[in-house]
Formats: sequence, C-alpha cells, structure tokens
Amino acid sequence: MRPPSPTPLPPAAALVERTVAWFGENRRDLPWRAPDRTAWGVLVSEVMLQQTPVVRVAPVWTSWMQRWPTPRALADASTADVLRAWGRLGYPRRALRLQECARAVAERHAGVVPDDEDALRALPGIGAYTAAAVVAFAYGGRSVVLDTNVRRVVARVIGGHALPAPTQTAAEVRRAAALVPASAPQAAAWAAASMELGAVVCTARSPRCARCPVADLCAWRAAGYPGDVHADRRRAQGWAGTDRQVRGRVMGLLRAAAGPVPLATFTTDGDDAAQLRRCVDGLVADGLVQRVGPDDDVSLQLPA
Ligand code: SF4
Repeated sequence: MRPPSPTPLPPAAALVERTVAWFGENRRDLPWRAPDRTAWGVLVSEVMLQQTPVVRVAPVWTSWMQRWPTPRALADASTADVLRAWGRLGYPRRALRLQECARAVAERHAGVVPDDEDALRALPGIGAYTAAAVVAFAYGGRSVVLDTNVRRVVARVIGGHALPAPTQTAAEVRRAAALVPASAPQAAAWAAASMELGAVVCTARSPRCARCPVADLCAWRAAGYPGDVHADRRRAQGWAGTDRQVRGRVMGLLRAAAGPVPLATFTTDGDDAAQLRRCVDGLVADGLVQRVGPDDDVSLQLPA
C-alpha cells in the first residue's frame, strides 16, 4: 500500500517554510551577519542600509565598526570625524542621528543595545522598521520586519500586486504580522529570508521568477503579472539639479577639506545662487554644517 500523500501546507505556511529553506542555502555572507557580530553592529548596519545599497554600505560599515566598535566609542567621536566616515552613503543626517543614538544607548542602557522594541524605538533615529530588525537580527526575537523588500514579496505573493502602495498601510502591516511564525527563531529566520528573497530574487524591476522558491504560490505571477495600480502615484525623482545633489556636493567638499572652506568655493558658473543658499541654510539647520567668519566672508565647515 502506498503511504498517504502528505497534507499540503497552507500557502502562508508554505511561503514561510520554503523561503526560510531557500535562505539557508542562498544567504549572502554580509559582514553584519558574521557570527561575531554585535547588536550594535546590527543596529549600525540597519541605519546605513535604510537608503543605501548593500555594496556601498559593506566597506563603510566594516571600517566604521573597526573604528567605533561600541556605542560608547561612537558617542565620544567628533562629529566631523563621524560625517567624514559616513562618506558618500547619502542622507548624512542619519550619521548625526546614529551618534545621538549611541549616546542614548551609552547613557540610558549602560552601553548595551536594548532587545525590546519599545526601548529601541525610544532611541534617536530608530523607527518601527529598525527596531523590529534589531530584535530579529541581533537577538533572534519575534517581530514584524517590514522593509521595502518584504513589502514587495508579500504584495506579490499574497496580494497579487506588482508593487506595494507608495506608503505603508495598516492592512499591509496586519497581513505581514499574520505571516510571522509563532516561534522566535523561526520568526527571525523568516524576517531575514523574506528580506533576502526580495533583495536578490523578487527585485522591483526584474524579478527572477525562474529561480524563485515560491513561484507556484505567487498570486501576481498566477494572475499574469498585472501592471502597477499605483503607478500614477509614483514619481521618478531625478537627481541632477536637485537640492539633494547640491547638498551632496557641499558635504563632499567639506568632508575632503581639513578646515573651513570659503562659501564662494561652492559656486560654479551656471549655479542657482538661491538654491545654494537654500541648501546651505538647510544643512546648517540640520546640524551638518557650521558657518564661520564674518557675514561678508563666510566659510563653511563640518561641526566640531
Ligand atoms: S514568482 Fe516572481 S514575482 Fe512572484 S515572488 Fe517569486 S520572484 Fe517574485
């Protein structure tokens, strides 16, 4: 007599189980996943990865952690050094917030990164995503880790949509929460695995469905890849000529300089003087740049 066929797993359970198994075979070796990583290293990596790709973060993270391996070490660093080390990761306010976070961990938590989501979210610069990620990746705890990659995987496999809504919805969070396994180790494994699947297989522009471990479960694929229903709400942001580009150029020159740089240095032919002024004002207001010298001969420098 033939043994009875195993009962198929419900789609959500199969999604989790197969994604976790796939991750076990395919996970990338990233420095913040090394066995000797610290909770602080995980937190730093998550802040750096918020708006910057892995390939650009990895070398900066490695040298950063060698230089400032603990919250106390970063708390004591000069802000100018922190901004220089942040380099070209972009959105440098994150560096300032990370240093504030280091100081808060040193003062409020005796230098130990908390393992509780509420305590993490009370730290400067730590939002819902980063707190959940630290709980899962640093402590192997149970949390709902919902970054852009996980959102895309869930939107496609469960929702049947090309992409998630431009801003996260409460229904999306509930759907993601319902997928999180009950056991903490399994929940942490699902968090890492679903992020990895979105990052390397189920990518935004060219998903590799032929290599996908959950292709047969994917509602978007089954529906014949319908178009993005939110396309008109997504505006592609150019880079050239934007305030972000001008801010980046100012920060780049200041990082490379040993001391104050005259304001006139930042102006080139064809520049929009009002835009430069606005961007410098914004950088000063953000605490990323200081003005020094008399009003008619102002120089800029990184904060001491
Ligand atoms: S089948 Fe394709 S679209 Fe669906 S989850 Fe896999 S990679 Fe993504």
